[in-house]
Amino acid sequence: GVQTCALPIYPCMEIHLKKIESNARKIHEIFKPHGISIMAVTKGFTAEPRIAEAMLRGGLEYIADARIKNLKKLKDLPRQKVLLRLPMMSEAEDVVRYSDYSLNSEIETLKALGDAAKKLGTIHKVIIMVDLGDYREGIRSQKVEHFVKEAVEIEGVEIRGFGVNLTCFGGVIPEQTTLQRLVDISEEMRMKYELTLDIISGGSSSSVYLVEEENGFPAGINNLRLGEVILLGKETAFGKRFDGLCEDAFILKTQIIELKD
Ligand SMILES: *Cc1c(COP(=O)(O)O)cnc(C)c1O
Repeated sequence: GVQTCALPIYPCMEIHLKKIESNARKIHEIFKPHGISIMAVTKGFTAEPRIAEAMLRGGLEYIADARIKNLKKLKDLPRQKVLLRLPMMSEAEDVVRYSDYSLNSEIETLKALGDAAKKLGTIHKVIIMVDLGDYREGIRSQKVEHFVKEAVEIEGVEIRGFGVNLTCFGGVIPEQTTLQRLVDISEEMRMKYELTLDIISGGSSSSVYLVEEENGFPAGINNLRLGEVILLGKETAFGKRFDGLCEDAFILKTQIIELKD
């Protein structure tokens, strides 16, 4: 799994695919018993296919990236693809073409995605983002119902999940009570609008620490979107090494060009 530079050309990044695979497998084995599926987040390495494949060999269920041009590179890998960043209206058609799910919080964008999906003869699945205090993206909790009521009328898109992003802009540390609110909102919307929900996504590498806490993930959270903890072995709420994962899958090698007292 190690590809060293044949002729050393510096600086040089050594990438240990076996370590990435092993980290992905450990993560998969930790979360599977909790009924939590994992999206392998590929934006940290601009979706280099060999690295993404290593993550998938570890058993991860979805591929997720913030950019459509990255997902395009991975279009032949046999997993459902997820666009993590809220779509730009201008890229609606490519979003439908190259991702199975996208994260959303705007009615206008859902209409554009719906139009694109109809044109392409498909239905695009959307995960609605709820803002629970981090202020990166999402609908404030008291406005979710109004949003869903409008969204279910849009042809070509189908609400298939709810999600939250934490510790991204506002530095909010994920807690059980916060994630319980996401579960409650999702459940209320599922009942009221008869939704089929595949995904209740409880965050990123900043949420993983909860699995070792007494007050951990509430029942109902069934997905996480993970990049950093798999690539660098660290959870991101407290920056701690997570459960014995490898921290040296990526090694930057450089030459010292001056060494003097
Ligand atoms: C990048 C990203 C993630 C993954 O974050 P990590 O800290 O690398 O695990 C999850 N969700 C969204 C919306 C993202 O943009």
